[in-house]
Amino acid sequence: MNYDVILIRYGELALKGKNRDLFEEALMRSVKSILRSFFKVKVRRNYGRMYVELNGEDAQAVMERLQRVFGISSFSPTIQVEQDEEVIKQKALELVQQLQPQPRTFRVETRRADKRFPKTSMEMSRVVGTHILRNLPEIKVDVHTPEVVVNVEIRVEGTFISCETIPGPGGLPVGVSGKVLLLLSGGIDSPVAGWMMMKRGVTLEAIHFHSYPFTSERSLEKVRDLAHKLTRWGGTVRLHVVPFTEIQTAIREKCPEDYLITIMRRFMMRISQQIAEKTGALALATGESLGQVASQTLESMNTINSVVSIPILRPLIGMDKTEITEISRRIDTYELSILPYEDCCTIFTPKNPVTRPKPHIAARFEENLDVDALVADAVNRTEVEEITTKAREIVTDLF
Ligand code: ATP
Ligand code: MG
Repeated sequence: MNYDVILIRYGELALKGKNRDLFEEALMRSVKSILRSFFKVKVRRNYGRMYVELNGEDAQAVMERLQRVFGISSFSPTIQVEQDEEVIKQKALELVQQLQPQPRTFRVETRRADKRFPKTSMEMSRVVGTHILRNLPEIKVDVHTPEVVVNVEIRVEGTFISCETIPGPGGLPVGVSGKVLLLLSGGIDSPVAGWMMMKRGVTLEAIHFHSYPFTSERSLEKVRDLAHKLTRWGGTVRLHVVPFTEIQTAIREKCPEDYLITIMRRFMMRISQQIAEKTGALALATGESLGQVASQTLESMNTINSVVSIPILRPLIGMDKTEITEISRRIDTYELSILPYEDCCTIFTPKNPVTRPKPHIAARFEENLDVDALVADAVNRTEVEEITTKAREIVTDLF
């Protein structure tokens, strides 16, 4: 079938007034930016609907990308024809005919937005329905629970016919909820946490702590690749790479082994808070899940949180590893995440990390360090990279 238009629907019914405008504008931006570099399509909106005019581009390929635009609740590949009863009947029939598998029951739903059209919605539904019944002997009408609904929308600019509704990813368009700084490691969890924040409309920046030469250039490359996977859901992700070697070395020299991880995390938070302030992020996000490992107990989170005032969002807090893994497979970060490159935490694993650390004890150990100077130095030497969809997509498309 040669479709002309993809009709996009967006949910979040609670949105009203000014919020609705912002939502629609952000969604337009997302849709345009995800399609623009790859297709010669036109995106329009009117009266609470959005349309992608395909201009001959492949509907399937366009829809695959729309599946990654947060804020879209569903979309339909649609045919656009003139306001001509015979043409409408024929095209509706063709649409149903090409469905695989063939539906056993259907219903026609007409909306006559252009009242100049001579038949009412009811009459038009009947005409189209009868035409389909006559030509497809196996099919029946079921008004209550049909397998297929044939939508006919008669508008001034043309008549739109569709009979498939494909779910979108839901959520809110990236950009409507402000900015969050994600602590991105090379593991399974933090990319999923970032994706979940994006799903709620957040513009994501990422921060990664790198301990060269304890951790290799390849482990940093892996983090870039993960950030790049996330860009497929929402444009550019700025990645802040923090040199962490000096801090880790200082902690290892001056602090007791069971508190190494706790103190290291406290440094991560202090540095992240400062970077967040610089970039205008209003919260940090991590991939922690309650009780998953020793450093993810409530005591530990308290001890870690107590050195900063910025909110720390933990979207995976109540999820099991299997649930997190399932999402990471779906968003295609899993295979990258399990690549066995060392991480700044793995090179730093004490035999018996404390599971119930206390803020005042951590603070006492930190007296052996010049915390402010170490933090300031790391912040100063942090480098920012722009990870864009395009930059790597071209490379991956070659494989
Ligand atoms: P992940 O799979 O995200 O690495 P994890 O289960 O391995 O998580 P931890 O190693 O305890 O858990 O890390 C907890 C969180 O701390 C991570 O989800 C991430 O947000 C952050 N984090 C850990 N290491 C780094 C790092 N090198 N750079 C940035 N953030 C990090
Ligand atoms: Mg990890």
